Amino acid sequence: MIEIVNVTKRYKQLTAVDHVNLSIRQGEIFGIIGYSGAGKSTLLRCLNLLEKPTQGIIVIDGKELTALSDQEVRKERQKIGMIFQHFHLISSKTVYDNIAFSLKAAGKTKAEIKKRVPELLEMVGLSDRSAHYPAQLSGGQKQRVGIARALANEPKVLLCDEATSALDPTTTKSILQLLKKINKTLGITIVLITHEMEVVQNVCHRVAVMENGQVVELADVYDMFANP
Ligand code: ADP
Ligand code: ADP
Repeated sequence: MIEIVNVTKRYKQLTAVDHVNLSIRQGEIFGIIGYSGAGKSTLLRCLNLLEKPTQGIIVIDGKELTALSDQEVRKERQKIGMIFQHFHLISSKTVYDNIAFSLKAAGKTKAEIKKRVPELLEMVGLSDRSAHYPAQLSGGQKQRVGIARALANEPKVLLCDEATSALDPTTTKSILQLLKKINKTLGITIVLITHEMEVVQNVCHRVAVMENGQVVELADVYDMFANP
């Protein structure tokens, strides 16, 4: 589903991502773990088309991202959902409107939006919160809105950037459960970056360990914890 071939991203002298090769399968939950500065976010931004690799090729669902025009980039980006550590909700909009906003941006009609938003709210367990503003929600609830928004346009891939790092352990568990449910019921491929082994152990099928911009280890999570 995602092919990362020999991808390097340099900022002037600094090599943030250094010749990374990864092949992520359709339907898997793939973790990328590493300390701060390892290059995880830079790699994720390349997957989300927010950055262009200095070198290398990225293919998602048969499309070579690294060969797209600017106009195609905008269209392809809608096929990729993204959730963030600090949620990035629009504080002046209600839960409903935060989700409706990304449907509108994708050109959906009013009728489609009216049908789709309640479905998404139900999926993330927030049906009774549609008229709330972000400031009226707990952290876990905000991330549920973030997830609903990311899924609004039925992406093939969901990218998670430290999605539970701002949450307490109990809330983290419930958000990870939700990601598992989404992966199972929708069959969506999930790539998550984290610095927490707990997160990897809880939800990931496979994990890549990054250090100094390179992938230094690739493992099945089951094997990793079965063979200490
Ligand atoms: P991680 O997500 O693993 O913490 P990052 O991808 O954020 O790592 O950073 C990898 C390296 O690239 C770091 O040394 C960081 O300072 C550098 N870096 C990241 N983004 C930029 C940027 N926009 N400009 C210059 N250097 C950057
Ligand atoms: P938590 O205990 O998870 O931190 P809160 O105590 O912040 O959650 O909120 C509990 C519930 O009350 C939430 O479901 C939230 O939607 C609702 N809520 C919180 N603040 C407000 C508010 N100012 N107005 C309306 N509802 C609120």
